[in-house]
Amino acid sequence: MEIFGKNVFNQAVMRERLPKGVFKNLKKTIDEGLPLDPTIADVVATAMKEWAVERGATHFTHWFQPMTGITAEKHDSFLSPNENGALMEFSGKELVKGEPDASSFPSGGLRATFEARGYTAWDCTSPAFLREEADVITLCIPTAFCSYTGEALDKKTPLLRSMEALSTQAVRVLKLFGNTAVSRVTSTVGAEQEYFLIDKSFYLKRPDLMMAGRTLFGAMSSKGQELEDHYFGTIKERVLSYMKEVNEELWKLGVTAKTQHNEVAPGQFELAPIFENTNIATDHNQMVMDVLKRVAIRHDLVCLLHEKPFAGVNGSGKHNNWSMSSNDGQNLLEPGHTPHENAQFLTFLMATIKAVDTYAGLLRCSCANAGNDHRLGANEAPPAIISIFLGDQLSDIIDQIVAGATKSSSANADMKIGVNTLPALPKDATDRNRTSPFAFTGNKFEFRMLGSSFSISGPNIIINTIIADALKGFADKLEKSKNFSADLEKLLQETAKKHKRVVFNGNNYSDEWVKEAKKRGLLNIPNAPKALKELVTKEAVELFVAHNVFSEKEIHSRYEIMVEQYVKTLNIEALTMIDMAKHSIIPTAIEYATTVASSINAVAAVSGKLNVSTQKELLEELSDKLASMSSNVKALEKALESALNIADIEKQAVVFREKVFTKMLELRADGDALERIIAAKYWPLPTYGEMLFIL
Ligand code: ADP
Ligand code: MG
Repeated sequence: MEIFGKNVFNQAVMRERLPKGVFKNLKKTIDEGLPLDPTIADVVATAMKEWAVERGATHFTHWFQPMTGITAEKHDSFLSPNENGALMEFSGKELVKGEPDASSFPSGGLRATFEARGYTAWDCTSPAFLREEADVITLCIPTAFCSYTGEALDKKTPLLRSMEALSTQAVRVLKLFGNTAVSRVTSTVGAEQEYFLIDKSFYLKRPDLMMAGRTLFGAMSSKGQELEDHYFGTIKERVLSYMKEVNEELWKLGVTAKTQHNEVAPGQFELAPIFENTNIATDHNQMVMDVLKRVAIRHDLVCLLHEKPFAGVNGSGKHNNWSMSSNDGQNLLEPGHTPHENAQFLTFLMATIKAVDTYAGLLRCSCANAGNDHRLGANEAPPAIISIFLGDQLSDIIDQIVAGATKSSSANADMKIGVNTLPALPKDATDRNRTSPFAFTGNKFEFRMLGSSFSISGPNIIINTIIADALKGFADKLEKSKNFSADLEKLLQETAKKHKRVVFNGNNYSDEWVKEAKKRGLLNIPNAPKALKELVTKEAVELFVAHNVFSEKEIHSRYEIMVEQYVKTLNIEALTMIDMAKHSIIPTAIEYATTVASSINAVAAVSGKLNVSTQKELLEELSDKLASMSSNVKALEKALESALNIADIEKQAVVFREKVFTKMLELRADGDALERIIAAKYWPLPTYGEMLFIL
């Protein structure tokens, strides 16, 4: 395809434009994740600049991912004045390091604004790209963002560290299986992105969508998603032309946007790319979210990435398909054809099971935010309980391993590690368990708890690190072994016994599972403030420090940032609700009630005998709801005020969840009741029916 990668300074471009030696040096750096050789930086920078300027770029930016979860940039022009006028210049120094003061990003106390500035450092493993917006073309250089004291202030640095940790441990394990040629293992990710589209004119009339990204009021329309006529249905023309442009933009950026379809809720859609290394997949998912939003505006649409824009229909998530691949081309979660390959596969599978069971709390935590609280456990996304789906065949094999390779009733009895071959596992999509939070899907795991607005960095940092840790445990033991096959068998058996409680193939949405999971001792963490605490347990801190993913200071700062973000989100939502209630809904209800009352008077003036019972009933209902709404506004204001007075941020988050959030639900009920009885022509807000169905 001609446009694919057109705006990317990729390896093909580098090969063409860089001197041979420089290209080789850079490629080695990229492939092996080595530090950049400073002597080649100037040459690379010049080649990059020339390529960018030929394409019309005037500016460059270090593109980075602060803790806000979105990307940030500060543009500098290539312009460099000299005695003859001005030159377009770009030095190796500018390529490699940037200093966007950027002191207002959340740092969780890692730096006071008057202190050390943050700096950005080129991540040459993710290619630079050109962004075209309006008439401006900008060279974007993916970078890590750190403080001068070396602490990570972003979502990229720890992700790279976690990939390093995984590689180190996975290579150790592969060596034990005789894979001596492997020097690197990378985790791979394909992130399926869900989103909503609504007409821009509606969006502009909804303060809640503009301020909070979700509707805070809104009575459900008479039709929702129950007919299932939207899911995988014919895509509307307007949406198709939007998707076409999104794809073209993404292809130019080298993002492999591959599939698209209507999702479950009306107005909801999905885009899935082809998987790639986790670092690039993370950068690309940020670009996907950005392009989805920007292209929408060009079509007079707005793309909503919030996890729950509309109550009563499905929210949006992100499925994180994850695997590991070695630099000799193996997918380590692909069952093999020989007993030897199978033993290796089962080892990596078992490490995953162990990791997920041991660190279920961290996985849950990695998907916690205010938006996702509306989904997890609400019968549309996986529950808040972490479990693994393996399918019947693999579960049976695990059972056999536990039983010590004894006979079993299934067709493939006598499974002996390193001796028997696994049966061919079905990859049929119909066999899928759609309700599992962590499902094995043939040659990868699909982690389904992520929210649609997330940076996928957080969850992948956790997955990489916990699996690195499980592999480390295996390698530590097996490297000392004198009889590898026997000790491996023993290790897998022990591991299976201990951790098979996390395997569950049934319906994760059922109430029975909640009870069963409790019996098995699995965690069920209901909301974000509770889930976030998992980040700073003693075990978690030890884990991160042991694998050099976070220092203790870094992890505490992240925790603080996330709790703070939760509080801020709920505060904005509560303030927006109060504002909408006071300035829009209550005045409308009063206006309408006045009209109804004057209709009673008017009718009565003509003749006392005429029937005004409809108006009277309506007026009574209106004034009841109005009174309730006024008192709930006051109650919410009070709850908010006392929550804001709490100094301890952790306690504050809990009060926001337990008090403020509850009051918000009560206030919403009043608003939605009023919406149902007030004449359409008076109602100030676009309705669910309009927003969900007019596209
Ligand atoms: P399925 O039929 O299992 O859904 P797809 O090929 O449609 O398979 O995959 C869904 C997502 O999983 C896609 O984004 C795809 O690129 C990704 N994926 C496939 N293989 C891997 C892998 N080895 N590692 C990570 N993601 C993968
Ligand atoms: Mg999926």
